[in-house]
Amino acid sequence: MSILGATGSIGESTLDLVEREPDRFAVEAVTAGSNAASLADIARRTGARLAVIADETKLDELKSLLAGTDCRAAAGEQALVEAASCADFVMAAIVGCAGLRPTMAAVEAGATVALANKEALVTAGALMTSAAIASGTTLLPVDSEHNAIFQCLAGNREEDVSRIILTASGGPFRTASAETIDNATPAEAIAHPNWSMGAKISVDSATLMNKGLELIEASYLFGLPSDRLDIVVHPQSVIHSMVEYIDGSVLAQLGSADMRIPIASALAWPQRMVTPAAKLDLASIGRLEFEEPDLERFPALALARQALEAGGAAAIVLNAANEIAVEQFLAGNIRFVDIAGCVRQALDEAEFDTPRSIGDVLEVDRVTRARTRAMMKASCA
Ligand code: NDP
Repeated sequence: MSILGATGSIGESTLDLVEREPDRFAVEAVTAGSNAASLADIARRTGARLAVIADETKLDELKSLLAGTDCRAAAGEQALVEAASCADFVMAAIVGCAGLRPTMAAVEAGATVALANKEALVTAGALMTSAAIASGTTLLPVDSEHNAIFQCLAGNREEDVSRIILTASGGPFRTASAETIDNATPAEAIAHPNWSMGAKISVDSATLMNKGLELIEASYLFGLPSDRLDIVVHPQSVIHSMVEYIDGSVLAQLGSADMRIPIASALAWPQRMVTPAAKLDLASIGRLEFEEPDLERFPALALARQALEAGGAAAIVLNAANEIAVEQFLAGNIRFVDIAGCVRQALDEAEFDTPRSIGDVLEVDRVTRARTRAMMKASCA
């Protein structure tokens, strides 16, 4: 297998499982963005034969950290594509649109792809699902919600599904006032009540943009339009999502909030494997609660649905503007409330043709990032 984004939160959970069953998995390649020390440590531990760092300025450091091993060090986008194409199972866990080309390469190579990198599917969903059909690849969702839906669909006919219900924890600001939310700090925004995740997805969970990206991801993965995809806030994060069938039956997947469960489901599919995740104790949980999402306090969710319904390049614009806005929020340059504001403005101003290739997707992404940065500079001036 190859682990793309091995140094991240999903990468770490994947390695935890893989290292518990060394006879079951052989790690061929591992990748990171810029953390050479952690990547070299992972490559040594797993015996990987290829370690790739996206940041080319870190290649010499990576090479010297791997001196004396059989692991080849490489850097840059082409090397990431090589890492994605050299195994028959790929964990796609790079964060953001940076994961698009490598994830697409894994799909085109016909590998079984465990997909955590939701931004790749959000920005290039139609291209990626057609490429998956053409190459015969199996896409296994790792996002806990999509993995839950995947499990609830097993053994049923597609035409019997009436709707999918994605659950959302509501994030750290579920009960906060609009004023508190508007002025939230990065430390407050990344303090997720139930899940431990990377910084970008944690902020997305606080704005509910994460649920919006998941809505788009679900539409591509399961082939359903916006009006058959619902969202319900479920603060306990015990039910990870549900599928409603035409007879009124609703199937749900439950589990503790530990990403090693959906990751294990993808790693072992179509079998199961043991995980160290805590078993559910429903009696001590006591109550499962549900409520409607509040689109006034969390406008990002409505923007994502708008982008899904608009089609064309709208989801690429939504994602690119959001990535820049989150980066600037984490750097302390904009307020929490401005994240959705930037995304709205980017969507309002966007005029792009429907992308026909990954090159087209990356061009819309590049232009939107540049525009969003310029927009922020202008509003700060
Ligand atoms: P992290 O930020 O923890 O890790 C991101 C990984 O991507 C790291 O290995 C990082 O390397 C690498 N990376 C960052 N920038 C680049 C780049 N430009 N080129 C190549 N590699 C890069 O993210 P998460 O693990 O939290 O999330 C990964 C993906 O999984 C995201 O798409 C997220 O939405 C999705 N996801 C995550 C969940 C979670 O629980 N964490 C749950 C469901 C989905 P480095 O360490 O060197 O920066």
